[in-house]
Amino acid sequence: MFEHLKIPERVLLGPGPSNAHPNTLLSQALPLIGHMDNDFIKIMDKTSEMLKIVYGTKNRLTMPISGTGSAGMETVCVNLIEPGDKVLLCVNGVFGERWANAATRAGAEVTIVRAPWGEAIDASDVEKILKKDNFKFAGIVHAETSTGVKQPLTEIGKIAHEHGALFVTDSVTAIGGMPIEADKIGIDASFSGTQKNLSAPPGLAPITFGNKAVEAFMNRKIGVRSWYLDLNMITKYWEGKSRAYHHTAPISSIYAIYTALKLVIDEGLENVFIRHKKMGEALQKGLEIMGLTLFVKNCNHRLPNLTTVYIPNGIKDLDVRMRLLNEYNIEIGGGLGEYSGNLWRIGLMGNNCRANNVYLMLSSLEAILSQLGHKCRRGAAVEAARSIINN
Ligand code: PLP
Repeated sequence: MFEHLKIPERVLLGPGPSNAHPNTLLSQALPLIGHMDNDFIKIMDKTSEMLKIVYGTKNRLTMPISGTGSAGMETVCVNLIEPGDKVLLCVNGVFGERWANAATRAGAEVTIVRAPWGEAIDASDVEKILKKDNFKFAGIVHAETSTGVKQPLTEIGKIAHEHGALFVTDSVTAIGGMPIEADKIGIDASFSGTQKNLSAPPGLAPITFGNKAVEAFMNRKIGVRSWYLDLNMITKYWEGKSRAYHHTAPISSIYAIYTALKLVIDEGLENVFIRHKKMGEALQKGLEIMGLTLFVKNCNHRLPNLTTVYIPNGIKDLDVRMRLLNEYNIEIGGGLGEYSGNLWRIGLMGNNCRANNVYLMLSSLEAILSQLGHKCRRGAAVEAARSIINN
């Protein structure tokens, strides 16, 4: 006997996925139509138009790849890298490290520029390496979900171009929660995901490729080594008057991203970003008032939508996270790598990024920590957060 699925209602305040907006979930229950149906192709075109708005770009090649954010990362790697190409990757957390690994597998000679976890990459370190050789691209994570660092991009993008390298970003945790402004910054290619600030289920990886990046994969000496992710073929399905079947589009996932993008655009991008900034600041202030220490020291480099905070001395990570889950139905993330057991990662992403969740998070964490012996003035964290939110 197999039982019907019974899924608990969680408040997903971790590093992702965040709760999907009810409208995106409902849209997935709409009837399937064929992936070559004109009505579906219109939905694809509008999805691409809306993605351009959220990415801040006019790039014609802007579309969702089938697969999660990592499929977007692989798409960038297999299309842009030819064996032996030199690639520079900035690593200050798990996702930069993953990208370096993927680029190496795609045949690149990878040079890594590092910064300590919790710090942004220094543009002058990137320049020192780019000066030395010809690099196909310089890649950097805009929002490092493992550490909570927001990476300034403008200067590094400029340096990459000055040295003839494409500038490529991982926007998985950035998209829909902070400005990307791909054209203004000069991002040549970028990949992202749906399950964070877009409040859609995981399963698609929006990408955008500018002209120089498109030329790079169109003029390859040897073909793209992945059949499934070859943009030369996928674009024949996503672009143009007559469309060629490549693989069956994940129809219901496209309905979901369409709906998710429409929600963001209807609210107004600027309003969405202000909401994320304000709620992030309120949460961070509340945590500090509770006597906790934020991991990212430089407040200009703190992500608004993913806060990393040290676990106080004497408190065991899982004691708190399990109580949050079992008593309050709240999921938050633990630290990764050497910070496992030392950090919590708290997300306020997309539709979850609301005042009620800031208060819920702070008051439940405060209640648990107080019971475990952590000293703090009860109610002060919520009060501090409220004064920021109501300001
Ligand atoms: N890059 C960043 C910054 C991420 O946060 C994640 C996922 O959390 C990924 C890449 C990988 O995305 P996915 O897990 O959707 O494949």
